[in-house]
Amino acid sequence: MSEHTMRTELDAVVVGAGFAGLYTLHKLRGLGFRVKALEAGKGVGGTWFWNRYPGARCDVESLEYSYSFSEDLQQEWNWPERFSAQPDILRYANHVADRLDLRRDILTERRVISAIFDEATDRWTVTTAGGEVFEAPFCIMATGNLSLPRVPDFPGLKTFRGDWYHSGLWPEEGVDFTGRRVGVIGTGSSGIQMIPVIAEQADHLFVFQRTANFSVPGVNRVMTPEVEDTHKARYAHWRDEAKRTPFGIAGHPPPPLTALEDTAEGRTDVYERKWGTGGNISFLYAYKDLLTNKEANDTACDFVREKIRSIVRDPAVARLLMPNDHPIGTKRLCLDNGYYETFNRENVTLVDVRSDPIVEITERGVRTGTKEYALDAIAFATGFDAMTGALLDIDIRGAGGLQLSEKWAHGPRTYLGLMTAGLPNFFMITGPGSPSVKTNMIASIEQHVDWIADCLAHLRREGIARIDAEAAAEDDWVEHVNQVADTTLYPLANSWYVGANIPGKPRVFMPYVAGLDKYRAICDAVAAERYRGFKLAGI
Ligand code: NAP
Repeated sequence: MSEHTMRTELDAVVVGAGFAGLYTLHKLRGLGFRVKALEAGKGVGGTWFWNRYPGARCDVESLEYSYSFSEDLQQEWNWPERFSAQPDILRYANHVADRLDLRRDILTERRVISAIFDEATDRWTVTTAGGEVFEAPFCIMATGNLSLPRVPDFPGLKTFRGDWYHSGLWPEEGVDFTGRRVGVIGTGSSGIQMIPVIAEQADHLFVFQRTANFSVPGVNRVMTPEVEDTHKARYAHWRDEAKRTPFGIAGHPPPPLTALEDTAEGRTDVYERKWGTGGNISFLYAYKDLLTNKEANDTACDFVREKIRSIVRDPAVARLLMPNDHPIGTKRLCLDNGYYETFNRENVTLVDVRSDPIVEITERGVRTGTKEYALDAIAFATGFDAMTGALLDIDIRGAGGLQLSEKWAHGPRTYLGLMTAGLPNFFMITGPGSPSVKTNMIASIEQHVDWIADCLAHLRREGIARIDAEAAAEDDWVEHVNQVADTTLYPLANSWYVGANIPGKPRVFMPYVAGLDKYRAICDAVAAERYRGFKLAGI
């Protein structure tokens, strides 16, 4: 490092300015901390800054997928739709940044490349790709769960003469597919959202599907003043109710029955009603046991497969679109707007790359084992190195030079998803081992940030310079996270929840699926018991 390196001394460094980073910045500033958020993107918004693909939309309703910490903020903002589109969520993130005057402490286009702990001084040194250095006792990673996009390693991509894009790195100016032959590779949530929109523009759309996914209708609609006003009149009530649910979303009372307690006709009625009202939480919460009992789950799978059969006119295409390799909900249940109907269009072709895999990208397009598909553009909706990717992309070293990448070589290990033993004063927001992606992310973010801020205030009050997770507490937590997952059907799917989408990634179930309500109670109890399971060391 040259002697001219710019160094900034802070009380805390926050990495990321998505919803987690924005709220952390606000909260820590409120405690009087000198704090900066370092953001790789050109603007705030995280996921919603990067994922600008056509049709990108949140699958949690807007009135829930928003900050609850400020009554003013939630009252004054108007959401135009039931499920917000990416541009509206990005506008909201920008509004929050302005409204709370956060921008003066956000440094954009600063990609963090390393974070190194110095045991002698109890300080983190955080360095950006541009060589700027920030030093602080606390380092807080607000790097997101789905922020390291992954393009499969297809031979020949460099030779492709057309344009290609990834859903999570979509050009800011947008892409016009009008009159073009387009290939979409991937049929997860991102692919399922972009396919109907691209199909309307493209001359011809080829959908390259390896694994069929379950999707239920979004049933999006314009937000009426009645709906908005009624909700806002009791916002505190809804937020409070959300806190007492497993997923951090109000308006979904626990189902009274297990699926098998109901009759076949009863189940069809319930599923039909859920299909009609839309929403993935609503559908999976039709019965108590859809995610814990395979036989119960099969009834919901059969219902959706029957829907696909009834919507898609070509029986062979319908058959290919019917998922059959995982219980419904064990991969993120997709939410769509006209996905299955899109396959009735003349200009859409479903290509089964399970039976005939993609072997290379050529100058002209995509080649499978048997055929070359000439394309003008390829959209990769091939997902992310989820939950650990963004963290491990940074050179992170804790006490005694402990490298996070080495520590996590066999999968992530954390205590409460908040800290990992050996990396003192290093916090993760919605880290692996926390409920994160299995909940309303903003609700989880608020819970984490509030907990971390209370913890930092406690350390300051008590004159404690260093906090670290105890190895034994971490071991117990990892075991607990796995035990809980094993009581569900989740481990049956080859999902990104277990890292199955990344070749060579250790298969570990990463989110904590006991529910945000239970998790919140555990975190509160840990804090109340003077941070049980953490080692606190005085100044
Ligand atoms: P994803 O769920 O991981 O889906 C990736 C897709 O790409 C899968 O269909 C996968 O097939 C396919 N794929 C990967 N490598 C391939 C290859 N070599 N050849 C052919 N196909 C390949 O990724 P995503 O759709 O971006 O979604 C990730 C997560 O982001 C979601 O689960 C959700 O949590 C979040 N998200 C949410 C929303 C929303 O709120 N509505 C929207 C978008 C994303 P296989 O299944 O065979 O591997």
